[in-house]
Amino acid sequence: MNNHLTSKINPASIRIETFSHEILQAKHLSLDILRLDEIHPIISGNKLFKLKYYLEDALQKKCHTIQTFGGFYSNHIVATAYAAQLCQLKSIGIIRGAKSDHLTPTLQEAETHGMTLRFVSASDYQTLKRNQGFFDNVYSIPEGGYGLLGAKGAAEILSFTNRSYDYIVCAVGTGTMVAGIINASADHQQIIGISALKGAYSLETEINKLLNSDKKNYQINHDYHFGGFAKHPSELLAFMELTWKENRLPTDVVYTSKTLYAILDLAQKKHFKLGSQMLMIHSGGLQGNRSLSLKLCSSQYPV
Ligand SMILES: *Cc1c(COP(=O)(O)O)cnc(C)c1O
Repeated sequence: MNNHLTSKINPASIRIETFSHEILQAKHLSLDILRLDEIHPIISGNKLFKLKYYLEDALQKKCHTIQTFGGFYSNHIVATAYAAQLCQLKSIGIIRGAKSDHLTPTLQEAETHGMTLRFVSASDYQTLKRNQGFFDNVYSIPEGGYGLLGAKGAAEILSFTNRSYDYIVCAVGTGTMVAGIINASADHQQIIGISALKGAYSLETEINKLLNSDKKNYQINHDYHFGGFAKHPSELLAFMELTWKENRLPTDVVYTSKTLYAILDLAQKKHFKLGSQMLMIHSGGLQGNRSLSLKLCSSQYPV
């Protein structure tokens, strides 16, 4: 793995820990959690994997600047800023929304790592995304790292696990991570992606574009968005707090809390075969918690 990014941030020490819960016990299910959230405080979770081949490609093409797209609390934006800095590339973040006097902590951190921010209206954002940004000579990484190179990197996530798991469950935003995992999975494994977005029914099409064979061993579940991408009803916050208190597992408000909730709820509803071994990918996600002004989440993550 001779890669500029992973030679600087080595994911070799990723832990797998067992998560206990009475619902799982009752259904004779075991659940392990792959703690990608512990890789690095900024390039957290799946972002290291999704970015590594884009940056390699940019360096190979002798581009000096990369640009990408995201919102005020985007994990992807700040991870890209940091990754670019590590690879001695300049970076531009095209941000959806009007600039305010107070940048979010996420965007402040992106600036700290050398990213130039450009704020654009929602409609300009869509146009720029389609046209791949402002400048022709700049390497463009799609929003959320969506694309074949992102999925190629994400496929390497499974190299940190063995093939004994019957189910692998992970969060879905753009679908890049789950596509990589499907590509790397064995046929006997069932991959379940929990969508963090409300009614994102085009996801399956987007994921299929990234698959390198006609694998069908996956399913995208659209039932656990909790009102939408940026929504976090008190039921979800209470669940996060309980998970932290009882299991010392930090989760994020956008993705992994919904995924873990879904696993327990689906287990309760007998969705999984009795006696199965399951793996949840903890994909990181510190940035989303920063949108909360709640003590709860600052206790979970040193933000
Ligand atoms: C970015 C992110 C995701 C979404 O990954 P996709 O590849 O876009 O589906 C999931 N979980 C966390 C914690 C993330 O930060």
